[in-house]
Amino acid sequence: TMRQILVLNLGSSSIKYELFDMDSGSVLESGLAERIGESESCLKRQLPQSSANSPSQTINASIPDHRHGIELIRRMLAENELFAGGEHLVGIGHRAVHGGERFSSPTLIDDKVIESIRELVPLAPLHNLANLVGMEVARSAFPGVPQVAVFDTAYHQTLPRYAYRYAIPDDWYRRFQIRRYGFHGTSHAYVAKQVAGHLGRPLADLNTIVFHLGNGASAAAIRGGESVDTSMGLTPLEGLVMGTRSGDLDPAIVFHMAKEAGMSMDQLDTSLNKQSGLKGICGANDMREILAMAAGGDEAAGLAVEMFAYRIKKYLGAYMAVLGRLDAVAFTAGIGENSPEVRALSCADLEPLGIAIDPVLNTADGGPVREIQSAGSRVRVLVVKTDEEFEIAEQTLACLQNDLG
Ligand code: AMP
Repeated sequence: TMRQILVLNLGSSSIKYELFDMDSGSVLESGLAERIGESESCLKRQLPQSSANSPSQTINASIPDHRHGIELIRRMLAENELFAGGEHLVGIGHRAVHGGERFSSPTLIDDKVIESIRELVPLAPLHNLANLVGMEVARSAFPGVPQVAVFDTAYHQTLPRYAYRYAIPDDWYRRFQIRRYGFHGTSHAYVAKQVAGHLGRPLADLNTIVFHLGNGASAAAIRGGESVDTSMGLTPLEGLVMGTRSGDLDPAIVFHMAKEAGMSMDQLDTSLNKQSGLKGICGANDMREILAMAAGGDEAAGLAVEMFAYRIKKYLGAYMAVLGRLDAVAFTAGIGENSPEVRALSCADLEPLGIAIDPVLNTADGGPVREIQSAGSRVRVLVVKTDEEFEIAEQTLACLQNDLG
């Protein structure tokens, strides 16, 4: 029998979806509803090459809200012969952003779980509210289909206490749950497994540092398959330099700018999350564009790339010390997978630490997992194509099987 899992990932104005056949691992349909609530909302849909219909379609439809978006997706799926009217759909997996300390594994969604996610809204207001809408709408659009929440924070619940606590009054942790949670957990988990699979070594014996470098960026130190430290914190603002987020900074900058520039808390929040990082330094947040600007002699763009790579290098050094023995470094997501410049710069001059990238392998094309270290490098360096949706689908299926067994 065929088992299908539908993965839903709701952003504030978008819905990403992907339908998997879990027995073959193939994608039966995927798509993205964009600009929800705006005048030019649309649904982009991708069907397998083998489909009788054109594999790539854009449907211009009015999508006033997420409820209409999911309803439209349901109608599109109904037209897909491989979906077979939903008779093989065994579950729906939801990407959920903040699981706090309550959720350390994928969880079957019921009213109590929805209530708990609602209680976590203060920790991630925009994300968790969008996730909740998705869960509630999907429950009514696909009645009787079990739904599972897969949290972005869950993978990092294995961090030791001394790594997740901040050195602030104890009461802030006890009363306000202020601690490091970390994000991109599904991606870090997936990439660590891919590295172990590729190297033919048990995940339990492997120490890996994963750099997820997309528009958001984070690092994770992974010992034997478990996350032991990660660069994002209470929110995704901490850590690496990102497209529009500052990453690490002296927290006193916040009160200095409040006092000296008269900025409000909301303005500071927006500045550090939306107008900082690469964009703050050079005016652009798309790494492709920035690399082109830098190549054309734009000094600010050059600086942005250097700062981006330097922060990665600092975390690489820190996490090497955390792990003690490092087996592999993996680069993933938009920038990590596609920018040899950033990878080379991040690992430059690290031969004394046993890390060296081969310039030819670094720029070569390859499969979804490839090694790029030079012959003399003690540490393996890999480029791994991440697949958060597939990982969510796998965790959803595993959760449903545990639940039934
Ligand atoms: P993601 O959030 O994973 O989709 O990654 C988005 C980031 O990846 C953006 O900064 C893109 O500019 C960057 N990116 C995608 N393709 C390339 C490429 N070929 N070279 C450099 N950066 C890229």
